[in-house]
Amino acid sequence: MSDAELVVLGTAQDGGLPHAGCLCRQCYAARLDPLRRRLPASLGVVSDSGALLVDATLAFAEQIYRLWQARPLKAEPGERFAPPETVVLTHAHTGHYAGLWQLDRSVMAARGVRVLGSAAMIAFLKANEPWAMMEREGFITLTSLPLETAVELLPGIRLTLLPVPHRSEWGVDTVALHLRGPRSCVLYLPDIDSWDAWDRDIASEAGAVDLALLDGCFWEPFHIPGVPHPPIRQSMERLAEVAGSGKTRIAFTHLNHSNPVCDPTTPEAREVAARGFHVAQEEERFPL
Ligand SMILES: [Zn+2]
Ligand SMILES: [Zn+2]
Ligand SMILES: [Zn+2]
Repeated sequence: MSDAELVVLGTAQDGGLPHAGCLCRQCYAARLDPLRRRLPASLGVVSDSGALLVDATLAFAEQIYRLWQARPLKAEPGERFAPPETVVLTHAHTGHYAGLWQLDRSVMAARGVRVLGSAAMIAFLKANEPWAMMEREGFITLTSLPLETAVELLPGIRLTLLPVPHRSEWGVDTVALHLRGPRSCVLYLPDIDSWDAWDRDIASEAGAVDLALLDGCFWEPFHIPGVPHPPIRQSMERLAEVAGSGKTRIAFTHLNHSNPVCDPTTPEAREVAARGFHVAQEEERFPL
């Protein structure tokens, strides 16, 4: 068996970079230069036993291609490549799950892709179209996972869903993912309202893993009512000791298009690096 790897498939907030309707400096630059684009936050795990996708974003088509390219074993290029066997969803905000529609008859006509999430997330999909119909017609299967319980999703790779506070609509909770492989442990936490509102201590959780990919939506506090996220500045203060220890790589992801750290040449991006933190990069890989 080859060693499993984690691959970063997207690093932007739900709307991506460039962002719909935006002419800010960064969106403008990203339209001119594809290398400055960032796809919405997503993650993949590949091993020679299969592939796992975390969240189904508006860039689903491109992200499953990146995931397929990262697979250690793949059939010779023919006319088609298969979608990942499993998709794990973090929550019911549209930017994180609606890409599932491309598994439907209208695009891929997939067979039985296993879609996993919390009990509330899966109940939400089963109760709403077109997701319920996609399951009835066999394109996907919808299965809930227990919270705070490790489940082996690929041989040697164990996943635990950790509930986190994040604006809940339609009664659906949000989960962070803890992934444990033979070589490393990873915390994936792209969306949270605030570190203080969590019943776990982010410094202890981040300190216990090798890689923490954390909500870096905004650089400064952002005062649009109903869109709370911990600003990167505050997170760096809270996690200074963990980053300083050198044991955990802390990388910010889920970056809003307006966030100056999207551009590696800004003073803010340089400050992140100078303080021992990282900005997640598209298609970065880590041993798992
Ligand atoms: Zn989000
Ligand atoms: Zn913009
Ligand atoms: Zn969200």
